[in-house]
Amino acid sequence: MKITDIFIKQKKTYSFEFFPPKNYSSTLELGINIGQLIKLSPSFVSVTYGAGGTTQDLSFDLIDYIQNKIGLTAMAHYTCINATRDKVENDLDLLYKKNIKNLMLLRGDLPGKGFAGLNQEFQHASDLIALAKSKNQYCIGAAGYPEKHPESIDVETDLKWLKNKVDQGADFIITQMFFDNEYYFKFVSEARKMGITARIIPGIMPITNFKQIQKFSEMCGAVIPDKIVSVLEPIQNDKNTLYQTGVDLAVEQCIDLLKRGAPGLHFYTLNKSRATIDIFSSLPHGLIH
Ligand code: FAD
Repeated sequence: MKITDIFIKQKKTYSFEFFPPKNYSSTLELGINIGQLIKLSPSFVSVTYGAGGTTQDLSFDLIDYIQNKIGLTAMAHYTCINATRDKVENDLDLLYKKNIKNLMLLRGDLPGKGFAGLNQEFQHASDLIALAKSKNQYCIGAAGYPEKHPESIDVETDLKWLKNKVDQGADFIITQMFFDNEYYFKFVSEARKMGITARIIPGIMPITNFKQIQKFSEMCGAVIPDKIVSVLEPIQNDKNTLYQTGVDLAVEQCIDLLKRGAPGLHFYTLNKSRATIDIFSSLPHGLIH
């Protein structure tokens, strides 16, 4: 089913993101975690592509397994950086043949030396989105950045290019993680003023490992507010207290988002199930639907 058809039935969607496991034991662990998360009846799940050096074949195998063996609606992430048009066309066709009709289309991160030495047939996600849209058979998601993409000079310029992605054919937007909801609501409000009407689903990353989250937030430019740092820093080595506090903070964040009109939640699960389950089951039932 296309995610846009799910939107017609569900005012709010709940989705979980996975990445392809790198070895046998993480494959088994992911299987168990997906088994646990299915019980929450997600609206759809997604599988990253090429991020963190994971192999692209594994992404396709995992998405195929989730869509066709487990039977969940699955969305394949796909990046175009350094790709030839032939490769992109072949990959998109292959996914379609595997019954994958939902795509999260991205550029992918630039290496340190920028575009130098790379194939430049696709310079931006919008080029990929336009190509996929021309085939008229996919439902397309694009990435949005409430605190702007790190390469952008300001939020307004970044939003202009986001609008371009929607104009080229993106049907909805999932955001980068953020820890201060005000960034999300300001981003949505500015996007609406620019004429972006697509759903903007907030991306949620629970903080259960302080050092890891600091590294992620530095990489993607998401600020961890001082009031959160001051709570988490002193307990960062107390695993259990940090876990519970991180979950409590995420529950607070999700309740605020849903109460103020966010159209659902997309969880960056990091291939674990416990935090997402603990957060999701702490949300008041009346808020979820
Ligand atoms: P773009 O939309 O191309 O934007 C990149 C930069 O170029 C921005 O600064 C933008 O403002 C600017 N820009 C955009 N269009 C134009 C234009 N036409 N002209 C000039 N400037 C322009 N990475 C992976 O490798 N694999 C994944 O699976 C993955 N999944 C992700 C999922 C989500 C929800 C998010 C938020 C990010 C994900 N990423 C993933 C990371 C993403 O690849 C990086 O953030 C990347 O640096 C930018 O990708 P993009 O699609 O936003 O690029």
